[in-house]
Amino acid sequence: MSSILVGCHRCGRQVPSTTLRDGICLDCRLDQTLEPLRQEHARLWRKRERYRTSAANTTALGAQIGRVEQRMADRIREAVPGDREVAERLKAELERARQARYDIRGV
Ligand SMILES: [Zn+2]
Repeated sequence: MSSILVGCHRCGRQVPSTTLRDGICLDCRLDQTLEPLRQEHARLWRKRERYRTSAANTTALGAQIGRVEQRMADRIREAVPGDREVAERLKAELERARQARYDIRGV
């Protein structure tokens, strides 16, 4: 199967034209759709870290974080074709989100 490579308007990467929507590649579309959720995830995670150090109950916050991660999964599922790729992208996304928190803590 042959496909034409086209540059994404956002990141400039060469991708098969069939994966572009409105000139934007799948990675960039996911980036855009996930960005608000990433920020929400970061906010909740930092809050929980603060509460933890004061030994407060963080069960409710944990549930909130779980819901944000569920919404991330839903958005990836909407944008990405194929269960396996959905699973891989979700795993990468959650690793990235949680890793980002460690970086923030280290500051
Ligand atoms: Zn792109």
